Amino acid sequence: MHFRLDAGKQDFHRTDMDGVATFRARIARADETAITEAAAILRAGGLVGMPTETVYGLAGLATSDAAVAKIYAVKGRPTFNPLIAHFDSLAAAAREARLDATAERLADAFWPGPLTLVAPVAGDCRISLLARAGLDTLALRVPGSATARALIAAAGAPLAAPSANRSGAVSPTRAEHVAADLGDRIGLILDAGPCVWGVESTVVACLAEGPRLLRPGAISRERIEAALGGPIAEAAPGQTPAAPGALASHYAPNALLRLNAAQAPQGAVVLDFGGRIGASGRGLRLDLSPAGDLSEAAANLFAHLRALDAARPALIVVAPIPDRGLGAAINDRLRRAAAPRPAQGGAGA
Ligand code: AMP
Ligand code: MG
Repeated sequence: MHFRLDAGKQDFHRTDMDGVATFRARIARADETAITEAAAILRAGGLVGMPTETVYGLAGLATSDAAVAKIYAVKGRPTFNPLIAHFDSLAAAAREARLDATAERLADAFWPGPLTLVAPVAGDCRISLLARAGLDTLALRVPGSATARALIAAAGAPLAAPSANRSGAVSPTRAEHVAADLGDRIGLILDAGPCVWGVESTVVACLAEGPRLLRPGAISRERIEAALGGPIAEAAPGQTPAAPGALASHYAPNALLRLNAAQAPQGAVVLDFGGRIGASGRGLRLDLSPAGDLSEAAANLFAHLRALDAARPALIVVAPIPDRGLGAAINDRLRRAAAPRPAQGGAGA
């Protein structure tokens, strides 16, 4: 066992066999005092749980290879899957990457908010090469969460902050989810309540060949296209990094998932939408939105998946979800949650 103190006031215990520190995480309401404490941990190279409007993030200095290496290690995330750098302003983001007219238009329309832009790095980009997975492009976002922006400002640097869960598992939308997944890996989790969107940001690449939608997310395609004044193309083959999250198993609960179900077989639990499957049988049933509202469904998606999975069912059956608006992001996450699992854990983030 190896004792070390390198991360502010974290409740720090030891480093485990991977050299990753083990902790007992404290959940603190995200007031000024807690944000100041979290910023000190970040500046010392440590990691904290950070609320955002999409999902809770595992935050570390995006400018530090060492902090970014810790993020990959704590999540068990493959280092070829690049991280998003989070900024507290458009001006701060624009210092690190070359935002073209389209990127600026999208940033004006949706920042601060749940849109990530991928752009060529600036010549003097300070973002860790490890965070970029060695690419000469950078994923950037100014989060809508005032807590997240206050933490970035207090840390004095952009933060890398992928979802605060083990790679490949269900994303966290509450501080308690982070504690359940990574509570032994970080010392402090800022709590700003449940995430308002509940699904990850939409990712749009703004590179030489024009804008491309790389990942559906909280900002619907319809809203992106309205801002652009025309249709947006999908990612060209090979344009997304070899990120396993692209189609492989991701967001996966322990139970198997069956999508677009009309009814529930004996012994299955139900993830319903708008009461489509209804209270068949005696099994557990949670409705993403009894009223059929897609925003409410997105906000409930990961929390409901976790709650159903906690009952240790063999099978979760999921009602059909309309594929418009936020439904596209919900269906994207569900398809990956239902995808065949690799033998050893998931692969994305
Ligand atoms: P997450 O896994 O939720 O943290 O989101 C990060 C997403 O942004 C992943 O799908 C990454 O593959 C994608 N991403 C990050 N950096 C880049 C980049 N430079 N080019 C393309 N996609 C990127
Ligand atoms: Mg993730």
